[in-house]
Amino acid sequence: MQILVKCPRCGASLPVSAADGPEAIKCGRCGTPIPLDVSVAVRGDTGVDRCPVCHGAEFYIRKDFDPKIGLAFVLTGAFISAVFYWFRHDFIAYGILAAAALIDLIAYGRLKDVTVCYRCHSEFRGAYPRTAPAFDLHTADVLEQEYERRIGRR
Ligand SMILES: [Zn+2]
Ligand SMILES: [Zn+2]
Repeated sequence: MQILVKCPRCGASLPVSAADGPEAIKCGRCGTPIPLDVSVAVRGDTGVDRCPVCHGAEFYIRKDFDPKIGLAFVLTGAFISAVFYWFRHDFIAYGILAAAALIDLIAYGRLKDVTVCYRCHSEFRGAYPRTAPAFDLHTADVLEQEYERRIGRR
């Protein structure tokens, strides 16, 4: 399993291989030492039961979507369609727009899920079965505040 640790101090994303089970890492941006407590399930890629960074047990699932790639795709589709529109091939232009939207939708449905920690926003990618529920705004509000108070950001 691959863990994307979020630095509690500067928010930098730090990739860590859970199989190595490091006891601590150091943030590459701000130098803050981050102790890690990798559980057996996380290390063995069988499930996400406890966050190695904040020790929280509340997670949610979201699509592993890279907004940059999505945007580039939409812009390309819009550009090609604009060219056809310019040459008064309206139907082709709309067709391309519709096709782009459809491909986007299919690609979105095929995306893998990533588990995210409610408190520290660390991400967990691997072959383990996804058991966490979908994102809940109220839970996020409560747990994020609790975590930020604990690490002294508020
Ligand atoms: Zn940092
Ligand atoms: Zn966490």
